[in-house]
Amino acid sequence: MRTLPAAFAAYKWAPSTEELARRVGLDPVDIVRFDGNVPASPAASARPATVAAALARVNEYAHGGYPELLRAIADYAGVEPENIVLGAGADDLILLCARAFAGPGDQAAIANEPTYPLFAIAVALAGAEVGTDEPVVTFCCRPNNPTGALDPLPVARPLVVDEAYWEYAGETAAGQINDGVVVLRTFSKAFGLAGARIGYALADTETAAELNRRQAPQQVSAISAALALAGLADLPDVTDQVEERDRLARALGALGLEPLPSRTNFLFVPVDDPESVGEALLRRGLVVRVFPDGIRFNVRDREDDDLLLEGLAHVLDRPAPVAPAGTRKTRVLRATAETRIRVRLSLDGASRVRISTGAGLYDHLLEQLAFNAGFDLVLEAVGDLETGPHHTVEDAALALGEALDRALGDRRGIARYGDAVVPMDDALARASIDLGGRAWADVRLEREPGLAQHALQSLAQAGRLALHVESTGTDEHHVAEAAFKAVGRALRTAVRAESTGIPSTKGVL
Ligand code: PMP
Repeated sequence: MRTLPAAFAAYKWAPSTEELARRVGLDPVDIVRFDGNVPASPAASARPATVAAALARVNEYAHGGYPELLRAIADYAGVEPENIVLGAGADDLILLCARAFAGPGDQAAIANEPTYPLFAIAVALAGAEVGTDEPVVTFCCRPNNPTGALDPLPVARPLVVDEAYWEYAGETAAGQINDGVVVLRTFSKAFGLAGARIGYALADTETAAELNRRQAPQQVSAISAALALAGLADLPDVTDQVEERDRLARALGALGLEPLPSRTNFLFVPVDDPESVGEALLRRGLVVRVFPDGIRFNVRDREDDDLLLEGLAHVLDRPAPVAPAGTRKTRVLRATAETRIRVRLSLDGASRVRISTGAGLYDHLLEQLAFNAGFDLVLEAVGDLETGPHHTVEDAALALGEALDRALGDRRGIARYGDAVVPMDDALARASIDLGGRAWADVRLEREPGLAQHALQSLAQAGRLALHVESTGTDEHHVAEAAFKAVGRALRTAVRAESTGIPSTKGVL
């Protein structure tokens, strides 16, 4: 085997979530990763139905490649299919470019250090050296990882521009592909498909053909191609991520930190002793990327980013800029072929509730329940709504019940019982709850908007609670809403921390 340079260090992945959880004695679901520079959730288009057709033919090769995908990428990037090279992520294309442009005896330049470490690795694997002596190719990451900066485009040619984060910055070198520039893009970041390993290069027709000649045959799986195609049919909107990044940067400023200006979905923050800051955050389940002079973390969403702010404030011994989430909190990810539900629940919250399942009425009902319980709740669902709301509503209620059960832990010290009577115009609801651990549901709604009764039964089943609800009235919406509010009020009483003991004369629950 050809020897590698003595100083060669292979690309090093961060440990798995399970491994990190073991290291700090937490449950893997309580580990929140801020270190991958990827969105917190997959796109709505990334669901089983999207890959069903590809799966039905997974025994076959995709003869003829993926012309439909090439067309869709071409339209998205403003080029022609002949300008595109597919790869198993931008990483694969970095390696391809390095071996296509450089070989033993050559030097390849890398702009803007510190930058993405794979460029140097790819140059070494190609047998070339990193250097500026008549470089045969120059690599540039724009916007740059790990700084987040959108540095000026180098004038060197040929130039390979890694635009993994271009969607967040909105600036591209794609217009210069006929001027010696090769642009590398990925579906891993804005499109939320990192696990699918798919990306593409844009180059002039001749260069693209030469790169394709050197690329492995069908480097991209049919499953990944289907996911990418669905992503392109429903383009990601990064506005919220960019706004959240700026909010996070301002909040870090209020903590006395100085994040570097970023045009990406992550922030680099210089800190003293980054290693111990990273370790202390990890002990709280928060995983950031540690560098010699700072830490880097990606934006997730307001609730998760607030956990990071709270964690950083604690670690740096500064007043927290956000209301604490409390200790009785949990996260649940429930995924089936029909739905994917992500729940974050804190029992001692401040009624900060955000629910989006796509099943409008039930979002409203669950919101009423959580608000009246005084919980912080984020519940997001992607489901097969084309078959009706049944799966989504049932699974959302089951996932919420599971989260409640987890957040209650061994149920030590809770009031256990709760009841409430809630009138709402013509409707009157009464709810009684026992959090003793045995599931039971007697839910009687005089009128039913569809799945309200079933949702409450599912909540009781997964939450291991006994639930008695009766609601009467003339308007079905009011009858259901009063019932959900009453269940929320009853839960508020039942989850209250009262003592340190087991709330049963038996001594066990
Ligand atoms: N380029 C840069 C600058 C990156 O930060 C990353 C992600 N770590 C990649 C490429 C890899 O992208 P992909 O998942 O498409 O291989």
